[in-house]
Amino acid sequence: MHTVTLIPGDGIGPEITKAVTDIFAAAQVPVTWEEHNAGLTSFEASGELLPQALLDSLDKTRVALKGPLTTPVGKGFRSINIMLRQKYNLYQNVRPAQTTPGIKSRYENVDLVLFRENTEGLYSGLEYYDDRLGIADSISRVTVEGCHKIVRAAFAYADKHGRKKVTLAHKANILKLAGKLMLDAGKEISAEYPHITYEDKIIDNMCMQLVIRPEQFDVVVTTNLFGDILSDLCAGLVGGLGVVVGANIGDDAAIFEAVHGSAPDIAGQGKANPTALLRSALMMLHHLGEKDHAARIENALNKTLQEPEKLTGDLGGKASTSEFAQAIIDNL
Ligand code: NAD
Repeated sequence: MHTVTLIPGDGIGPEITKAVTDIFAAAQVPVTWEEHNAGLTSFEASGELLPQALLDSLDKTRVALKGPLTTPVGKGFRSINIMLRQKYNLYQNVRPAQTTPGIKSRYENVDLVLFRENTEGLYSGLEYYDDRLGIADSISRVTVEGCHKIVRAAFAYADKHGRKKVTLAHKANILKLAGKLMLDAGKEISAEYPHITYEDKIIDNMCMQLVIRPEQFDVVVTTNLFGDILSDLCAGLVGGLGVVVGANIGDDAAIFEAVHGSAPDIAGQGKANPTALLRSALMMLHHLGEKDHAARIENALNKTLQEPEKLTGDLGGKASTSEFAQAIIDNL
């Protein structure tokens, strides 16, 4: 039995986490949940954004499934997501994007995995405002160690999963110093993997290439901000935010989550698609070594995705979140 910290999250978070825990219970997955919330919902209930009880649970379990958390725009508290990533040094954000039968997309045969550096760059939290001069500085800090760790993680994944190519996306033509650190890491580490093709692409060209011919990419690695933007672009290539997953992985802890946010526009209405969070939970099962349980639920999900009337509105169906979850349970 594995103990996993469950963070239901804000907005649609509780609806989609319930769908996932119901499916896991029906499939008799050997997981017990320690539920602790964070973010706005937690703040409203207890005055704490990131409760100590949640951190104590994570210190012990080292693995969590997390619903989306709302972060106020332009003011207020720092992102809880970023605080968690930095506290547990979850330096890899791993986001697979694959076309799936039953999920509408303009593309076919997209099958790529994006490795986004998760703790540095423009999201280091180094922001200063001089109200006398009216100047805001947001400092992008990139380290040699950080670049090496994320590039090495991308190559190790490609090697382990039989992937053929790693593409490093950067802006070293303008960001001469920070971009060069990534390029140097790419050059050094790619030499250790001569059987994997290595290329680098400037980020703007990368965006165009992804839209024109996404099937040319296999494993992609990049810094934090570029990775944040590319991951939503990749979500759009394979059917949208409701179906794409992410994992935040460190050397001794991991938090699995959907790529989408708390979707306040549809929260509490039973419209949310639980596919992304369910797929993150399946990635988590692989991480825990429960491959058979993951495969069984994935088969049931893929079968359900071929039944248009059982899908949520974002996928063209009319089912509610719980009806969709029940259809997956029926297909187990
Ligand atoms: P969002 O992803 O919440 O929503 C964008 C659009 O996609 C909305 O129209 C929404 O209804 C739709 N959508 C998203 N997930 C869906 C699902 N599962 N099923 C059906 N439709 C879905 O992005 P946003 O509106 O920019 O952000 C809302 C809040 O979420 C913000 O506070 C933001 O900071 C936060 N956020 C959190 C995370 C996270 O916790 N990892 C990630 C992104 C955004």
